Amino acid sequence: MPKTSKTLSLPPCDHTPCPYAGPSYEETVALRREFLSPAILQYYKEPLMVVEGHMQYLWDETGRRYLDAIGGIVTISVGHCHPKQVERVREQLGRLQHTTTIYIHPTVGLYAKKLASKMPPDVKVTYFTNSGSEANDLAILTARMFTGRYDVIALRNAYHGGSQSTMALTAHSTWKYAVPHAFGVHHAMPGYCYRCPLGLTYPSCQVKCAQDIKSVIDYTTPGSVAAFIAEPIMGVGGAVTPPKEYFKIAYDIVRKAGGICISDEVQTGFGRTGAKYWGFQNWDVVPDMITMAKGIGNGTALGAVTTTPEIAKSLVGKLHFNTFGGNPVQATYGLAVLDIIDEEGIQKNAQKVGRELRAGLDQLAEKHKWIGEVRGIGLMLGIELVKDRKAREPATAETARLSEEARKRGLLLGKGGFYGNVIRIKPPMCLTVDDARFMVACLDECFGAL
Ligand code: PMP
Repeated sequence: MPKTSKTLSLPPCDHTPCPYAGPSYEETVALRREFLSPAILQYYKEPLMVVEGHMQYLWDETGRRYLDAIGGIVTISVGHCHPKQVERVREQLGRLQHTTTIYIHPTVGLYAKKLASKMPPDVKVTYFTNSGSEANDLAILTARMFTGRYDVIALRNAYHGGSQSTMALTAHSTWKYAVPHAFGVHHAMPGYCYRCPLGLTYPSCQVKCAQDIKSVIDYTTPGSVAAFIAEPIMGVGGAVTPPKEYFKIAYDIVRKAGGICISDEVQTGFGRTGAKYWGFQNWDVVPDMITMAKGIGNGTALGAVTTTPEIAKSLVGKLHFNTFGGNPVQATYGLAVLDIIDEEGIQKNAQKVGRELRAGLDQLAEKHKWIGEVRGIGLMLGIELVKDRKAREPATAETARLSEEARKRGLLLGKGGFYGNVIRIKPPMCLTVDDARFMVACLDECFGAL
């Protein structure tokens, strides 16, 4: 694909990609078309082929470099093929690849211990899984066993997975097939001020959206619940950032109804919001259970549920097994991520670069009428596009066009929101200030091209 900008150029990078010698672009497109499910989501009219990655950059088969602003959907936390992680995993792969949890292995214990050191006191025991869907599935099961209750409150516009049971928690018609979803899940109103479900304005609204949880419990459940699950900032839903009071009100209502509170940190965890290690810390609440995936592994299939020893005990009594959860290779991947975040000041970097980026995006909002709202914290940002600012009609087609324009200029963006009108920016957290400046300049050109 030709470059369209004469003035923009990516910040320098000292990594030289290997010459690509595999199947051609055309062959790869044909392979995907013939042998992979047509249901697999794909970005761009002309599919992008990616053959190499290093830190915040990706390369296509022609050797062209891209700035990755979505990190494999918020999964590359510390950088593509981070050399320290690669080295540690390579060593582990050569020594012992897999045993499963029927035996003990030191790395998984050390890893769980380090993870516990990042958690609230007493939230300290972990069950490792392979994905976020599996983690959320297990979290709900555990909550039901612990409380002896069944009903679960999730939020509209949330995404918690695509498995049969987590599809029930997910609340976007676009992500739900017409089959019976797991019973007992009820969806309350999110704190989505830009599209307030009650048509009110913050702060005079008194955060009535959060009070809706009480009404849902009173009218649609037996009056008590097993759990409340929510993302501190909605990811797939479009970086929806609630008013600061929302979670305190929600947790209070749920606990009074006997439920435990689960924070889905699949996208917001591991320092992504900059100022805080976990998303929930931005809202001054303490969950009983935390689910993780994506950034936890920096590109490997790893998920986790961490909770208190008392809650975790409720799964004892039946056989429960996960073949790969916490295997030596996965644990090595995960422990390396935690170490790199600490050693390289990744969280601080997310805060510093996130601030710079946010300031740049806010300036773009003053200039380009397409921008309805810029929101998010740290390196978990979103830009909601509208056709006109008053009516707030979603600019869905324009969002897709903007993403195509950015790709032509070497910038890979994410898309999201119920209407597909939110640009999602959640890059590897090793992003530099120069990358952020490039991103803003590139977006400026792309908005201009709409
Ligand atoms: N929770 C959240 C907040 C997510 O964003 C996702 C994935 N987009 C999941 C859970 C499900 O994770 P996975 O795709 O690994 O099953």
